[in-house]
Amino acid sequence: MSIEVTNISKVYGTQKALNQISFKVNKPEIVGFLGPNGAGKSTMMKILTTYLEATEGEAKVNGHDVNNNTKQVQQSVGYLPEHNPLYLDQYVREYLAFNAQVYGVSKNRINEVIALTGLTPEAHKKIEQLSKGYRQRVGLANALLHNPDVLILDEPTTGLDPNQLVDIRNLIKSIGKEKTVFLSTHIMQEVEAMCDRVIIINKGEIVANKTLKELRDDKEQVVIVEFDYRVEDAFLLKLPKVKSVKNTHDFIYEITFATAEDMRSHVFDFAHDNELKILQLNQKNASLESLFRELTN
Ligand code: ADP
Ligand code: MG
Repeated sequence: MSIEVTNISKVYGTQKALNQISFKVNKPEIVGFLGPNGAGKSTMMKILTTYLEATEGEAKVNGHDVNNNTKQVQQSVGYLPEHNPLYLDQYVREYLAFNAQVYGVSKNRINEVIALTGLTPEAHKKIEQLSKGYRQRVGLANALLHNPDVLILDEPTTGLDPNQLVDIRNLIKSIGKEKTVFLSTHIMQEVEAMCDRVIIINKGEIVANKTLKELRDDKEQVVIVEFDYRVEDAFLLKLPKVKSVKNTHDFIYEITFATAEDMRSHVFDFAHDNELKILQLNQKNASLESLFRELTN
């Protein structure tokens, strides 16, 4: 088990940032830790990386207890903190070399992580000269220096432009083939783009813990379609993944599907195959985004 959290609570003064949280992460897996701002994501990640002590409960990384085996935990995790704190006037290689020394990592490993994170063309530059996307790569390279089994990435894609976003997502996905990646985000699309599983946190409590497949299968979607002609309900019930059909008005039908996958194209094909014309076609409640809003409203 890469990460095992049991009944963790964290209180800041009078505020309860985490309330009896429990979850597990296996290896290798990319798990999204999704929640709105202030939900407690960074707090949980700081506890897992030993930067912060929990008020209550137990957490293990790679089987090591965060309170009793601090050193082993630190050797097991690579951490990219939120707002990636880099020394802007250092050169990429110089920055990584300094941290390599702190970790007691060989010089060869610096070139390895530079290559691994696609930093080779920028490695001779000062960090301040780099785009936000390349700065995130430096943060990832730094987290990978001591070749940890578990990576904890706090909002690794926040603030990136669309091209940088795609590059960093791909990089994280390739890292996730070999390592356990636990990443936080407040955006459902990031989870959909990168993760195998999502743990949703709201106000310090876990409100969902599911694979993306389970989430999509759980989700219902209603498609409202108007044909130019009457159709038997039984006929529409032959559509894939259909749950129910309701004829709401004249030739207007409300079809409920047991999936979040957009089913409009299936309805369109159905109409085409049966020589029906579609006069309107709309969809409600399909996105995982709307599910996230329901769970964390
Ligand atoms: P997230 O990363 O999901 O945005 P955080 O873990 O940063 O959430 O914060 C959770 C809650 O705890 C917030 O309400 C935040 O204001 C509070 N909090 C976080 N760090 C501290 C701190 N050092 N002192 C007091 N309150 C804090
Ligand atoms: Mg945070």
